[in-house]
Amino acid sequence: MKNNKRKYLSFLALTILSAIFIPHKLLFANNKKIINPKLSEKQKNIMFNEDTERPYSSPLNNEKRKGFFHCANCGAKLFASNAKFDSGTGWPSFTESLPGAFKTKIDYSFGVKRTEYHCAKCGAHHGHVFDDGPKSEGKRFCNNGLCLIFKPEK
Ligand SMILES: [Zn+2]
Repeated sequence: MKNNKRKYLSFLALTILSAIFIPHKLLFANNKKIINPKLSEKQKNIMFNEDTERPYSSPLNNEKRKGFFHCANCGAKLFASNAKFDSGTGWPSFTESLPGAFKTKIDYSFGVKRTEYHCAKCGAHHGHVFDDGPKSEGKRFCNNGLCLIFKPEK
């Protein structure tokens, strides 16, 4: 009886410890999928391994035309051009996403609490959202340009 209780307690402790220490990458891996077979290694690393592109490397930083920004993996519409602004960070930045475009989760990598967002349709990582945006709602979506495809309005 005592032995069983001990077994149960160590099982419980193991469950709790693994819930804390198993990387989130593994837990979230199952709902992510590569849809676009033409994604480059760099794109895959950002979208599925939570890498980040170098600041000021994306041509989309200077994109000022009217249109929509789509997910480079699944093609879902994510941002409208009127939400884009120059944040000075070197990454394409937006004050808001289209409704339901993303799912968020809290990310503790580098010991800093940040809110990471993923495409709601394919699960690909796109960037982080911060509360220091220029509008009254205060959001700043900091997006990797490599994860986006811009389609100008015709
Ligand atoms: Zn997507």
